[in-house]
Amino acid sequence: MNMRNGKIGIIDLSTGVSSEEDFVGDVLTAGVLRALLAKHGPDSIVLGTGLLTGSLIPASCAGTLTAGQKTMPLLGHAGIELKLSGFDFLVLKGKAPNWGYVWTRDGIVELVELRESPQLNSWQRTDKIRADQGDSKIQVVSGGPWCDAGSPAAQLVVDHWGGEDKVGMGAEFGKRNLAAVAFRGMGELEIADPEAHFEGSVALMKGHLSRLGPNKGLQSYYEGAGREDFVSLVHRYIGCYGCPFPCRTYLKTEEDPKEMRFMHKEPGYLHYDVPALEMATQVGLSSRDATRVLTRCAQAGAEPVAVLTAAAVGGGRPDVASIESLLSRRADVKPVNKGNFESSLPSLKDYETCLGLGLCPRYWAKVGFDIRSLSSCAESAIGHTLQ
Ligand code: SF4
Repeated sequence: MNMRNGKIGIIDLSTGVSSEEDFVGDVLTAGVLRALLAKHGPDSIVLGTGLLTGSLIPASCAGTLTAGQKTMPLLGHAGIELKLSGFDFLVLKGKAPNWGYVWTRDGIVELVELRESPQLNSWQRTDKIRADQGDSKIQVVSGGPWCDAGSPAAQLVVDHWGGEDKVGMGAEFGKRNLAAVAFRGMGELEIADPEAHFEGSVALMKGHLSRLGPNKGLQSYYEGAGREDFVSLVHRYIGCYGCPFPCRTYLKTEEDPKEMRFMHKEPGYLHYDVPALEMATQVGLSSRDATRVLTRCAQAGAEPVAVLTAAAVGGGRPDVASIESLLSRRADVKPVNKGNFESSLPSLKDYETCLGLGLCPRYWAKVGFDIRSLSSCAESAIGHTLQ
């Protein structure tokens, strides 16, 4: 099947038993998610890839993670890596008896115990999983202590960084004794007409770039990243899979930003969480301190807009130390309903369609999301008209 593996991986966390089902059809992701939740139980967690995830269409990097009514995007290299692991969708059922993580690669899905997980923050979990499995390119969607505790203001992080989970997905992991989900794949995807798809994708990208002009990383999407103290800390811009106009900007706070080697264990942070940066500015943090706070929040698995909002209660001016102290008082922080990628497109329907196709909503909002503009390119990949 073009652009699909034709397989759904299923694991019962309560027993560790895994199985697989055929996936027939290449309808958009939202419909499949509903069907999988109906079949495997509304308490299941479903990870999904989009129809065009991993194609040559610009910014076709997106996957999704759904629990109940909550869905968060999986960006960076997580969506493509999930698809190349051999599954189009992954269903996680039940609750694990002990802390552990789901490990998926090359058509295999298993539950690996990680009993020390409650002592590890999200960064330590990612590093440990990569070290234990012997591959630094493993993609890890990880919880932290706030997720373990089931805090409604928790966030999952994707490969160390926060910004995708604005729906409280972290608590869903905690409820199931799930420390993380990790995937890696070396699979291949079939394309209906590779030559036409390549040419169509290049033409799409050229058309976009000629309209967009020079890229300035996050500043190209969010004016606040043009602040002098933000720009002075910029180390480099990083794109997700297939993104020609990246929003991701890495800031170094603990060493010279122009130093290309990493000399310090935690030199900085990858920014793409616009609402968190807006809130940090609003409470009076410098870009350096905002970066430090977002790092601590990501490690704890705490959603930073909620943390910063709580830190500003009473009208005081929070600093890094007071926010670090707040991170040890989860009960004082309530969730805040503020989307990041969810706010990119004008309608929820467009957002869901964009994600269902496997496309980054932020990039496609910037270039103008119009399904007609990409339909012939998509059709050269999947071999039939887009439904
Ligand atoms: S716009 Fe940002 S989040 Fe979207 S694909 Fe590009 S780098 Fe990734």
